[in-house]
Amino acid sequence: MALTGLQIFKLLPKTNCGECSVPTCMAFAMKLAAKNADLAACPYASDAAKTTIGAASKPPIRLVKIGPADNEVLVGNETVLFRHDKTFVHPTAFAVAFSDAEPLMESCHEIASVRDYCLERVGETLQLNLVLVDNQSEEVKPFVDLIRTAAGGTGKGLILRSSNLEALEAGLQVLEGDRPLIHAATPENAEQIAALALKYNAPLVACAKTLDELVALTTKLAALGVKDIVLDMPADNSAASLQHNTIIRKTALKNNFEPLGYPIMNFLNGDDLPSLVADASTFICKYSSILVLNRMDLSLLLPLMMLRQNIYTDPQKPIQVEPKVYPIGEPGTDSPVVVTTNFSLTYFLVSGEIENSGVPAHLVVVETEGMSVLTGWAAGKFTGAKVAAAIKASGLQEQIKCRKVIIPGYVSQISGEVEEGLPGWEVLVGPGEAIDIAAYMKRQVGR
Ligand code: SF4
Repeated sequence: MALTGLQIFKLLPKTNCGECSVPTCMAFAMKLAAKNADLAACPYASDAAKTTIGAASKPPIRLVKIGPADNEVLVGNETVLFRHDKTFVHPTAFAVAFSDAEPLMESCHEIASVRDYCLERVGETLQLNLVLVDNQSEEVKPFVDLIRTAAGGTGKGLILRSSNLEALEAGLQVLEGDRPLIHAATPENAEQIAALALKYNAPLVACAKTLDELVALTTKLAALGVKDIVLDMPADNSAASLQHNTIIRKTALKNNFEPLGYPIMNFLNGDDLPSLVADASTFICKYSSILVLNRMDLSLLLPLMMLRQNIYTDPQKPIQVEPKVYPIGEPGTDSPVVVTTNFSLTYFLVSGEIENSGVPAHLVVVETEGMSVLTGWAAGKFTGAKVAAAIKASGLQEQIKCRKVIIPGYVSQISGEVEEGLPGWEVLVGPGEAIDIAAYMKRQVGR
C-alpha cells in the first residue's frame, strides 16, 4: 500500500541535515512518495522506517530476469505510465518465435540471423533479445532439439512455450541455471507449472483470457511461492490487447495493485507488414515488456528498433557523445574546424555528412549536456564564448595551420563572439540542416 509524503515524513529523522541531496526531510519524503528517490540516500533512517517505507516504495511492477547470467534480459521495474513523467526503465525485449514443427535445418539459418542481427544507431548497439521456442509438435524430442539449437546458436535467453509438461521439464533440464521464461501457467495447470518454475528457479508467464482470471491466477501463483511472473492476456485483435495492457499497467501503478504488478508480454500475429509495424509500435509504447515477433524480417525490425530506442531513452538524459575533437576523414594541418554539440544524434548526423563530403575536417564537439544546437544555444550552453573556449582547450590552435572554423547555420548570431574569442580565425556560417553539409563542405572548403 502506497504511503503519502506526510506519512513517510513522520518516519524520517526530521533533522533536515541535507545528506540525501535534498534540503529537508519533508522534501525527501515527497520524492520518496513520488518514487523519485531511494530511501538508501538517507543514512539516518531507522530500521523500522526502512521496513515500512521500503515495502511501500518498492517498484509497483516487479523486475523479472530472464536468460543466462552473461546475457540476462531485465524487464519490469516501471514506475510511470507516461515516459515524460520520469522515464521508462527497461526496454521492450524483442523475441523471435520458432516452431519445433518446422524442419530443424530450416530454423538453424534463421536462428543464426537472430544471433547476428545488430544495428548501430547514435552510438548504441541495438539487438534482438530473446528466442521463443514453440512446442507446436507437442512432442518432447523436437522441442528439446530446437531448444538446444536456439540456446547454443544464439546464447540468448529462451522462452519455452508448451502445454506438454513432460516436454517443458525436458527443456528446463537442458537449460538448468539459465532461467528460461516458461509459457505458460493457466487457471487449469497452475499448480503443476508453478512446481516446475520453483524447481528450476525459472520465471513464469501467467496466461488468462480475462482480467478477473488473470488476477486470480497471479494471486494463486504468488501464494504457491512463484515471485517472477510475466502477464499474457491473449486477445482477438490489437485494440483489445492495447486496452488490456493499459488497464493492467494503470491498475498496477495507480492503485498499487500487486496481482497485476508484473511485466506484460504480447505476441505479433499476421503477415501484413504495415499492420505488424503498427501493432508492434503500439505495444512498445503501451506497455509491452516482451514482444514476440512471428518472423525474422529486417524491414519489420528496423522501425521497431528505432522506436524502442527513442521511447526508452531517458528524456531527462539525452544520449551524448564525449566532448572532444573527432578527426573526420584524415584531416591535416590545412583542414578546417567544424563545431557542433554533444547531442548524440546531432554528432552522428554532422560527422556522417562531413564524411560524405569527402572533405576531411576536425570536428570539435562542445559540451552542451546533450542538447542539440538550438536548444543548447537557448539554454546558454552553446555560446560563442564556449565554442571559442572548446577550440582553445582542444589544442588545435597549436597543431594546425588552418584558421577556418565552421559554426552551425542555426546559430549564426554567435559568429561575432567566436571571432572575439579566437583572434585571427575566420568564422564561417555553415548550413542549418545537416543534409546540406556535404554540398557546403565541397563548395566552400574543398575547392
Ligand atoms: S538525509 Fe535523512 S535526515 Fe537528512 S535531510 Fe535527508 S531525509 Fe532528513
